[in-house]
Amino acid sequence: MNDSALHSFPIFDERPTTEYIDRWRQFISETGVPEDFEGVSTSKPNRSANVILLSDEIRVPTAMRPGGARVPCPLCSPTAPKFGTGRMAYFPDDRATRFIGHRCAKHYLGDNYVEAERIFRIEAKCAEIIALWPKLQSRATEIDAIVNRIYGKARKLTELRNIIDIQAPGFASFLYNDLVAKGMLISTSRDVRAQSHKVLGMEFFSSDFEPETAAAKLLRVRTDVRRALPSWSISDGEGEASREIVKRGSSAIRRLRELPALRDLIANSADFFAARNLRALEQWRATGASPFSSLTFKIDGERIETFAESYAGRYNWSVIFPKDLIAHLPTRDEIDALGLLEVIN
Ligand SMILES: [Zn+2]
Repeated sequence: MNDSALHSFPIFDERPTTEYIDRWRQFISETGVPEDFEGVSTSKPNRSANVILLSDEIRVPTAMRPGGARVPCPLCSPTAPKFGTGRMAYFPDDRATRFIGHRCAKHYLGDNYVEAERIFRIEAKCAEIIALWPKLQSRATEIDAIVNRIYGKARKLTELRNIIDIQAPGFASFLYNDLVAKGMLISTSRDVRAQSHKVLGMEFFSSDFEPETAAAKLLRVRTDVRRALPSWSISDGEGEASREIVKRGSSAIRRLRELPALRDLIANSADFFAARNLRALEQWRATGASPFSSLTFKIDGERIETFAESYAGRYNWSVIFPKDLIAHLPTRDEIDALGLLEVIN
């Protein structure tokens, strides 16, 4: 091919339609010759040309091409074989579409390509969220039910932690830091051959234990999912509709992804209050290996009264821990049954 064989089709007053792009994509997969599709220019654009990317990277089946040659690049090598993977692009300045080598495009077009890539990512994200939304809406009732149950438990555990922090300031961090340093493993007997006990539920005393905050964000998401997204077209770029879609969609995806972990956090942290766990901590104190000179958990029905003394101070707290606090907590199976992972991966 020589320069005179290059094609220039200044026929696109606006970016090509999705229908055109889909047919072009199909043509590439069937022929391996992206530059032969109707209306595609092979001429060289100006280095300062504005560019709009129409596709992600497309691997061209070059084996289908005459001689199996690579694709010429309109930017750097219009007449000689150059690349096997490229992108569809629209050049509004000369109203042309071209199939360009994705590696050299950044070099050749510079900042305009970087900007086009940034906008392309926004467009792709919006399209992904718009496709996702009806799937979430069709599950809204089930999501509601699960999120409500999780929120109730999260609020109760946060309340218990707040009571302890108010009644016994410093207890949480003292116990947490000491046990983290020990990998949560304590000895419950002076017998050195005895197995160590893994303290359960220490998440409850972590400084960032805020399940209610996380659950409240989920409440907002489950309400938001019921609202329609703004109308959008791909040419909105980074306009107001795109920004709203990305913001709401990203938030929904992030929070719903965290749902199983939040459920586990609630289940695990409640384990701290299991009688067996509290007994193990008392036995640990009795071995003399703990930093406590005194540590007792008096269980009276649902009330748990704690007295602790260490070199760091004396702590006394008392809470009602409802026996059914984690009853009716959604199971992992119930959350899996929502099918969220299939739609928000
Ligand atoms: Zn090139």
